[in-house]
Parts: sequence; structure tokens; C-alpha cells
Amino acid sequence: MDREKLLKEGVKEKFLRYVSYDTQADEKSEDVPSSPGQMRLALRLRDELVAMGLTDAAVKDGCIVTATYEGPRREAPVIGFIAHMDTAPGVPGNGVKPIIHRDYSGGDLILPAGIVLSPDTSKDLTGAKGHTIITSDGTTLLGADDKAGVAEIMEALCRLVFSSPADCGRVKVAFTSDEEIGRGITRFDVASFGAEAAYTLDGGIAGELEDENFNASNLTAVIRGVSAHPGKARGRMINAIHLASELTAAIPAVMRPETTDGRLGFVHPTSLCGDIERVELEIIVRDFEEEGLARSLAMVRGVAEDIMRRHPGSFIELSDRGGYKNMKQFISAAPKVSSLAVEAIRRAGMNPVTRSIRGGTDGAHLAVRGLPTPNLFTGGSDFHSRTEWVSVQWMEKAVDVICGLCALWSKELSVSLD
Ligand SMILES: [Zn+2]
Repeated sequence: MDREKLLKEGVKEKFLRYVSYDTQADEKSEDVPSSPGQMRLALRLRDELVAMGLTDAAVKDGCIVTATYEGPRREAPVIGFIAHMDTAPGVPGNGVKPIIHRDYSGGDLILPAGIVLSPDTSKDLTGAKGHTIITSDGTTLLGADDKAGVAEIMEALCRLVFSSPADCGRVKVAFTSDEEIGRGITRFDVASFGAEAAYTLDGGIAGELEDENFNASNLTAVIRGVSAHPGKARGRMINAIHLASELTAAIPAVMRPETTDGRLGFVHPTSLCGDIERVELEIIVRDFEEEGLARSLAMVRGVAEDIMRRHPGSFIELSDRGGYKNMKQFISAAPKVSSLAVEAIRRAGMNPVTRSIRGGTDGAHLAVRGLPTPNLFTGGSDFHSRTEWVSVQWMEKAVDVICGLCALWSKELSVSLD
């Protein structure tokens, strides 16, 4: 590992190196991490961090890489930056061949596999005219989600190490595993990480800050009917399949993912499996407001009770498999975490856009555990697809924002107080 090369190469070179590691998460595996490539990248990142001079760099339990940059402003709050090393299952993730498209013209990009990346279907591209765009060759995903975030944090560290700015406190970084299959963050040790506020770099196009996500409940409905010979079923059979249909049909059309956007929540059956006697139905319920989530859950319960009343002998058991909370309430308790991010984005020459995530985020799990963690842009889009792409210029902006946040936080004495 050549320290000089690391410090000077830039974010693009780091990104191209990291996407060459196959770190696709594997839901079917029970290993930690779920795929061996994640550990290979983790060890590589640790070695690079050590080469930079971050002597505490280590791969912790659960394949989580952590390290500390010790800036001179020790009285400032400790700030963390987090990205995930794994890539999404569902689209091939090994043998990524990055293609660099210089000076993007604003039109269609035809990838070698014949797939077209077009501003007609990828609206975010319109903002990247003239940029250097990186895609895969169309046979795999690119892995910008979230190796762009990893590369940006690594590059920001290189900048700090290279320039040793006077206005910087203690900075913690972490690279997590198995984010895409919802496992990695449960292994994250908030206390030993030791940051008072953190940012995930796992978002979309330049300028975006996400500080809000859905409240989520994941329900399982076990619907029990009564089986009988169909020739002698009159008055005896209760078909659980029909009961399941009644339940899903009772979800109002205006409360479904396919009919909602913006701040509207939804009730969404995701899986159905069973027979006459027993059907298992999975339903996910989402809402930005706690009261909205509670109302939707009560609606589902009411429908189930009504079905049981109308079909004596049937039984519907609803259980909550868990979920997550909107991180907004936790982040609002420490408003500087968002306001300094907005300021850092502005200082890096962009228009800050604060968005809500119509889904979950690692930050939602960290916020509940006491670490407010909004999500910053990485400069890419079309994640989890063969047309996934990232702008090099936007990756550089993300590096500016990380370094800018270090400078802004170094002037603060506390995360929560003014
Ligand atoms: Zn991600």
C-alpha cells in the first residue's frame, strides 16, 4: 500500500478499485458477513486506513471496519461518517466492468450489453450534463450503492491526513456489511464507535440530505380456516384462501404503494402462501407519522376482526415482526446535525434539498440507539439496477461536504446545545 498514491489518487480511482470487489450480500447465507468478498474489501480498507496513518483501524465483529482521525480540536463533538461495503442482491454483482463516459452529452448512453441509460427514464441524469459518468457494462450493477459512499469517506480522510487542518475535531469512520439485507446495522456497536452525531453517505444526487424516513411495522397474518371434502363442504368448509382475499381486498385502493407518494403512507401485502386450512399473509405498513401508522394498523386489525365475525370458526392471528421508527424525532432533538449538513452542502456550492426517505435507512436504527444519523448524497442514481451510475463531479462534491462538516463541527462544543 503506497501512502503517497493513496493520498493523491482521488475519489474516482478509489471508487474504481472498490467496485472490483464482489461484495454482493447473500440473503440465503447465514455467514457473517453473508459473502466472503465483503471481508476481502474490509481487510483492504483497513490496510489503506493504516497506510494513511490511522493506527486504530480495525475490522470489528460483524465485518465492520472502523478508524479514527484525530483532529486537533479535541473539545469539539466527535462526528462519524458511515457507508456500507455490500451491494444489493437481485442483479449480478460480480465481475463489474466500470465504463467511464467523459463529458456526458445529456443524451442516451448505450452500455456494451445493449442496455440504454436515458434521461427519459433516469431523470437525475439531466443534472449531470458535462460530467464524467461511471456505469457498469450493463451485465452487472455498478456498486455505487454504496462504494461511492465508501470512496468518498476514504478520500475525505486522505484530504484530512494530507492537509492536517487546524479546524477539525475527532472524526470516526465506519464501513458496515450486509446493509442491503438488513443485518449489518444490528451488529453496529454505537457505544464503542463513540460518535455524538454521524452521517451515512448512502443517498442519491448532489445536494440531497435525508433526515426523515417511514415508521414501519411488518405484520404477519396467520389465517385459519376449516377444511372439508369439497363434495360435502356445504356449511362446513371455511376456505382460508377466500378469507385472505377478503383481507387484501379491504385495503383501500388509496392506501397502496402504487397509489401513494410524497408524505402518504401505505398498507402493502408482500407475500401470500397457504391452503384451505391455513394462509400466511405478510403485510408491511408504513407512515411518516406515528399516529398514521397506528391508524393503519388499527384498520388492518378491524378488517381481521370483521372477517372472523362474519365467518364463525375462522381465526386470524396478527403478529408484528418488528420494524423501525422515523428518525426525524431523534434528529430534531439535535437540530444542528441537519443544519450543519445543509450549511456544508451550501458551502460546497450546491442547493441543499432536504428529503424524506419513503423507506428505511441505517440511520433510523442508529437514531433510536442514541446516534442521530441523517443520510447524505453520494452522487449516484438508479441503484440496484444494471443502469446504476455515478457522477465523478458529484462524488467530489460529497468529499467537499464531509470535509466541510468536519470544519463546521470543529467550531461547536456540543451536538445538542447552542
Ligand atoms: Zn445503500
